[in-house]
Amino acid sequence: MTYVVTEACIKCKYMDCVEVCPVDCFYEGENMLVIHPDECIDCGVCEPECPPEAIIPDSEQTAEAWLEVNRDYADKWPNITRKGETPPDADKYKGVDGKFEKFFSDKPGKS
Ligand code: SF4
Ligand code: SF4
Repeated sequence: MTYVVTEACIKCKYMDCVEVCPVDCFYEGENMLVIHPDECIDCGVCEPECPPEAIIPDSEQTAEAWLEVNRDYADKWPNITRKGETPPDADKYKGVDGKFEKFFSDKPGKS
């Protein structure tokens, strides 16, 4: 069991989640974070901390596709443990549909 980050995170990156994770299992892409499924201890602490509700448990049906994205990019992107700077336009993209297709970047973050 693990929690996963969905496309709702793309271009939001409030990063409140990374501050609360007890095992530091978030990884940073250019405009999205992911959780390493093998490192997450399924504590659920991060879920309510995420303003756009991008974090869901893998027991939810919609989580399956995101689990693969999280696993794949957690291996490629750098670990992030401290909240960084939220992009100034983050609120504009909150709740926008289809963000993965429109905006996903596979580039690593700056951590
Ligand atoms: S708080 Fe939510 S939207 Fe923000 S970086 Fe974490 S998972 Fe992404
Ligand atoms: S569920 Fe717990 S261990 Fe997993 S990412 Fe969230 S805070 Fe970290």
